[in-house]
Amino acid sequence: MLKPKVCSVHSIRSRGNALRYSASPRLCVKNIARSVRSCGLILLFSAAIVAQVPSPKSVLGFQPTDDKTIADWSQIIDYFGRLDKASNKVLVQELGKSTLGKPMIVAYISSASNIKNLEKLRRISQKLADPRTVADASELEGLIREGRTIVSISCSIHSTEIVASQMSMNLAYELATAGDDETKEILENTVLMLIPSSNPDGIQIVADWYRKTLGTKSEGTSPPELYHHYAGHDNNRDWFMLNLAETQAITKLYWQEWFPQFVYDVHQMGQTGARFVIPPFFDPPNPRISPSILREVGLVGYKMAADLQAKGISGVATNTTFDTWWHGGFRSAPYFHNSIGILSEAASADLMSPAVITKDQLQRSRPARGLASPLATDTAHPDAWEGGTWRPADINQIEMTASRALLSLAAKYRARYLRNFYEIGKSNIARDDSVPQAFVIMAGQPYAETVARFVEILRWQGIEVYQMTHELWVKHSKTEEPHEIPLNSFLVFTDQPQKNNILSLFEKQVYPNRVNANGQPDPPYDVAGWTLPLQMGVETYEVWDIRDLERNRGTLKKVENIDQVRAVVNLGPSGVAFGKFANPLRTQPRIGLYKGHGSSMDEGWTRFVFDTYQIPYKPVTDTQVKSGDLPYDVIILPADSENFIVRGLNVDRYPAEISGGIGDAGVRNLKKYVENGGRLVCFDDSCEVVIKNFGLSVKNVLAGVDRKDFYNPGSIVKLEVDTRNPLARGISEEAAAYFTNSSAFDVGQDANVRIVARYAAKDALMSGWMLGEKRINGKAALIETDLGKGKVIMFAFRPQHRGQTFGTFPLVFDALEK
Ligand SMILES: [Zn+2]
Repeated sequence: MLKPKVCSVHSIRSRGNALRYSASPRLCVKNIARSVRSCGLILLFSAAIVAQVPSPKSVLGFQPTDDKTIADWSQIIDYFGRLDKASNKVLVQELGKSTLGKPMIVAYISSASNIKNLEKLRRISQKLADPRTVADASELEGLIREGRTIVSISCSIHSTEIVASQMSMNLAYELATAGDDETKEILENTVLMLIPSSNPDGIQIVADWYRKTLGTKSEGTSPPELYHHYAGHDNNRDWFMLNLAETQAITKLYWQEWFPQFVYDVHQMGQTGARFVIPPFFDPPNPRISPSILREVGLVGYKMAADLQAKGISGVATNTTFDTWWHGGFRSAPYFHNSIGILSEAASADLMSPAVITKDQLQRSRPARGLASPLATDTAHPDAWEGGTWRPADINQIEMTASRALLSLAAKYRARYLRNFYEIGKSNIARDDSVPQAFVIMAGQPYAETVARFVEILRWQGIEVYQMTHELWVKHSKTEEPHEIPLNSFLVFTDQPQKNNILSLFEKQVYPNRVNANGQPDPPYDVAGWTLPLQMGVETYEVWDIRDLERNRGTLKKVENIDQVRAVVNLGPSGVAFGKFANPLRTQPRIGLYKGHGSSMDEGWTRFVFDTYQIPYKPVTDTQVKSGDLPYDVIILPADSENFIVRGLNVDRYPAEISGGIGDAGVRNLKKYVENGGRLVCFDDSCEVVIKNFGLSVKNVLAGVDRKDFYNPGSIVKLEVDTRNPLARGISEEAAAYFTNSSAFDVGQDANVRIVARYAAKDALMSGWMLGEKRINGKAALIETDLGKGKVIMFAFRPQHRGQTFGTFPLVFDALEK
């Protein structure tokens, strides 16, 4: 069943009496409030309540975002619990648990009467999201009249971008207590779903580190660990994949329950660029985003920019750096659900300590896409900031102003936004002969767990999937003859409200060839290609015409839950949604996973894959590698640079005991470990450690190559696999691999080296963008080499990239075993 262990929005009850704190075990809405509540009955006298709404300062003992203050996650949820208790305009709900078990919360903020009617307002938004559920024009007019604009603001998904999490308390308090006309209009016409942080674990990690290092040389540095247990910064790369507990919980809130018209994700960036970057975004736009959404995104940005300028705030830039190409971010996934996704990026302080930024530093800062210099004056950046002290409170003021700008637009044009939201969904369900009618997920594929997971991911995002209980004849292209597809295949029709989401996940991406006059590529903000079936190794086809569809419709069975899918692909019930998979290993090798003191996202994702597949492993520390005590059958080096692994954290900013990496002694010990019979598995960048230091004949042909001659910022490429090699047991002769500024090997004439997979000799690009493909055509992509009594296995690409590349996980599993 698609049933997570989180509170359902259905458990929101009418407020206005003591029932709102009902102790019913199914009503977990109030868990947090209950924990800070001292008495059982709440009396609601609105005048008295306003007087009693506690300010953040009165609770925390400091004003959030003042220099060198920080509220940790327990303080933040405590504050929101008190706000919930004291104000009839605030209702706090637990969304579920974070990866490390912390409560995730959302605060609904609106007028007292809207808060009483939340369930009704939610149902209106849900209906507008799916025009097929609206009977006629008069029902539509009623929904628009009664509905409210649903706006979600989410803070500090990237935990070192800490200020917004602190700002969230100031924003909530101001909205709950201010009596000005604009606030009244906002509360009356919108429902704000404020998420103080979509990564509670990271807020705690950063707060603990900041407090511990205050007044030391490390003050204001990033903590020396991932601020999301598995993903670190990549927690904002998971919004179509849904590997993480946090993405699952918020995706459910947004795309199964509330269908917000606006999603605003509040970030920070580096220190020496513009002060604040907002939409409109830079090119290229994703062609699957509705043009009207791109225009609405721009409108919000300009409203924010105008309001900031009116307050005399300089350094605000639009049309720079960030684009709308890629699908997987917090604010980009909403575009594919017909919602207006907004990103803002404020210049950072040193966590919660002020930073002094000189004009000279600004002058020397690297040009950003669309903004040559933070000191430049142009249309998209008319009022440059010229340097000075940059405080968390400056960021607070900017983010508060931007949040209000968005809320006031959403309030003022409430009816327009609701109607547009409905209309985009409606245009998506209209017949469109320019796109496939459906995609078919073929029955009988070898990796049944992966197929089930793929369907589950689609379902979780609210995409409808049908099971075929009957063979159908379909055309895979407009011109070809119909083929029979077997029963128990799955069909995903494109005429759904989120048609663009379906297309963007199933289609191959063709990134526009963007190079400047010197032939240098203009890098996309994130990756260029992500086609999900390719990454997951799931066989799907376009369907352009289904023979006798109308007659056959009755034989299609809508997928209602994941156990239905599992039964179809001959798996037992999973027991838990997004559950674990069976350990694929046949032996029990002693596995060591290198984990340096710096934070490595690739190490985190490797851990994620091992934990998901219940593969036991141990972390291998710098100290261990330096000592040479390495009692493992296999050691994995995640994709990090040689410098990161060998030199580690900089001792000028971090304590000596965690600085310095494995050092030269560690490199010698790794080589000795292999010579004595160990197996070393390197992913992508970390192969450099071996290439530079182990004296093999292997070379990375892309090392030092100029971007104008070869460039691939994140695409799916074709492999030709030697399936006779035991390392390729679990994979077919042609496979899709993830390449992101990765490597390609020339192995020389060494008889000890066996090539397990090569990049395809031609047409290697399957989805995304690649310049100078010839450089990698036919080059080795996965090799195994003997060294002494042991072996080194080198992946030139990313076999477990972001936990998404299920198609190449089997290569990793095979590499773990003899
Ligand atoms: Zn960020």
